[in-house]
Amino acid sequence: MYDYDFFVLGAGSGGVRAARIAAGHGARVAVAEDRYLGGTCVNVGCVPKKLLVYAAHFSHDFEDAAGFGWTVGERRFDWPTLIANKNAEILRLNGIYKSMLEGAGVRIVDGTARLTDAHTVAVGNNRYTAEHILVATGGWPVVPDIPGKELAISSNEVFFLDQLPKRVIVVGGGYIAVEFAGIFHGLGAEVTQLYRGEMFLRGFDDDVRAHLAGEMTKQGIDVRFNGTIQSLSRQGETLQATLDNGEVLNADCVMYATGRAPNTAGIGLAEVGVETNAKGAVTVDEYSQTSVENIYAVGDVTDRINLTPVAIREGHAVADTLFNNSPSKADHRDVPSAVFSQPPIGSVGLTEAEAREQYGDVDTYKSSFRAMKHTLSGRDEKTFMKLIVDRASGRVVGVHMIGSDAGEIIQGIAIALKCGATKAQFDATVGIHPTTAEEFVTMREKAPEPTPVGHDCVPV
Ligand SMILES: Cc1cc2nc3c(=O)[nH]c(=O)nc-3n(C[C@H](O)[C@H](O)[C@H](O)COP(=O)(O)OP(=O)(O)OC[C@H]3O[C@@H](n4cnc5c(N)ncnc54)[C@H](O)[C@@H]3O)c2cc1C
Repeated sequence: MYDYDFFVLGAGSGGVRAARIAAGHGARVAVAEDRYLGGTCVNVGCVPKKLLVYAAHFSHDFEDAAGFGWTVGERRFDWPTLIANKNAEILRLNGIYKSMLEGAGVRIVDGTARLTDAHTVAVGNNRYTAEHILVATGGWPVVPDIPGKELAISSNEVFFLDQLPKRVIVVGGGYIAVEFAGIFHGLGAEVTQLYRGEMFLRGFDDDVRAHLAGEMTKQGIDVRFNGTIQSLSRQGETLQATLDNGEVLNADCVMYATGRAPNTAGIGLAEVGVETNAKGAVTVDEYSQTSVENIYAVGDVTDRINLTPVAIREGHAVADTLFNNSPSKADHRDVPSAVFSQPPIGSVGLTEAEAREQYGDVDTYKSSFRAMKHTLSGRDEKTFMKLIVDRASGRVVGVHMIGSDAGEIIQGIAIALKCGATKAQFDATVGIHPTTAEEFVTMREKAPEPTPVGHDCVPV
């Protein structure tokens, strides 16, 4: 009756997983993609970002090596080499996605897809009918409407700059802004990070936010809060950013990382009755079903938790629900995450503020210390770790860390949290010595109560 059992709009993290799993369950599947296979994460998100973070970190490593007896010779960094190698790796990944989809029997349709009715998708002049449709069109960076905004770049362009800018202004307070401030600084640029709020990384634990601000400031990044750019202009080769306090900053590159909007415009959603919310995100239930029974939506386009592993889980669950006779929903509780700042953050569970609101009485355990490596490297960097415990049940409800390998460490801790581990079970776990992570099983002293929230931006 239909051309396909399942038609997916967008071959990003969520769409690819849903298409591949659905095909594996025996469905006839097509996926339309108008830009790049693998979506944001592979092309202009997690993957190239992490490669740039590795590149930036070498400058710290070269400096740290001296205390261990190394003499590091002349250092030169070549941005075009990094970008060319990054591009080659992403091309390789695009190829893997193509063969993975085709190998699973999924038809890839090149072009921009639009719904024309609840069972029909138009791509160019072609029409495809499908019993079920999945909207997985992701999100797009938003740059505020200021005079000169066309002079700024977003995370879409930053990965393709011809040269490393010498002076960079990064605007925004989310994880992408913080990460790029660290990347540019590590690669040798002079960096100002500008955020309009009191403290960046809203949604992360307050202690962690303040600690990172302190560390970034110590490294020499000009971290500024309560400030915005009113206008941008060009003077010869130089960009001039006029701030709301009248100050003018000169830069070679202004990068806006001020949020992303769901990709829902112009794809026929309203016309077929798919509801969206005030932010333009597709409204879905726990099963990712939209207001139209046979149309589902997953990933950033639904603006739930905008992370790749979450989009993948949601896509997988939809495929299982529709084609494996097993109604499935993605679990959005205790999703761990990392910020690949320098030093990085790893986080799982509730922040202290959320835990106090949810549980009332909580105990916190905190530790701030110089990691062993830096006793010889001489680097003035402190690791910070924090446990948040529900006093009534003894359950650990939040774990936060800032320091080397925080993402790697928190991934393991997240399993314990998911299993409902208590502080007593953390205490009963033997540490691995000498590591930073062992601190999580040796913290015994409760932090004074209530712990101060919202420190000044000073080194901890
Ligand atoms: C700079 C940056 C760094 C990030 N770092 C991380 C990280 O470290 N860890 C992490 O977990 N997440 C990270 N993310 C977020 C992550 O990339 C997204 O959460 C994830 O890609 C969402 O997947 P998705 O399937 O919803 O959408 P996307 O991956 O964006 O895929 C949507 C796809 O749909 C296509 N499309 C859109 N409209 C149409 C249409 N009408 N027709 C056909 N195709 C269409 C797009 O071209 C795109 O390929 C980062 C994002 C950015 C921007």
